[in-house]
Amino acid sequence: MPENTLTPDEVNAIVRDMDDPRYPSKITVFCDHCGATNTSEYMVSSEMTSKERLAVARKHLVEHGGWEHTDDGDDFCPEHAGSGA
Ligand SMILES: [Zn+2]
Repeated sequence: MPENTLTPDEVNAIVRDMDDPRYPSKITVFCDHCGATNTSEYMVSSEMTSKERLAVARKHLVEHGGWEHTDDGDDFCPEHAGSGA
């Protein structure tokens, strides 16, 4: 067993310890019904894909903003949440 070989996961863990990789980024979620948008800053990581970043914004808006995110992938503003696709 090599003792001086780090796996990618171990390297990532070290990088995270040295410097928090998260930074604020503006993300816009729009209503698939009326086109209303909500743009806010969210803490994201440079390792996150755009899809993962959008998921952070969606989760926040669903939990705190009254938005709805359906299983079909649609987003609805507070005015249209619960109205169905
Ligand atoms: Zn709407």
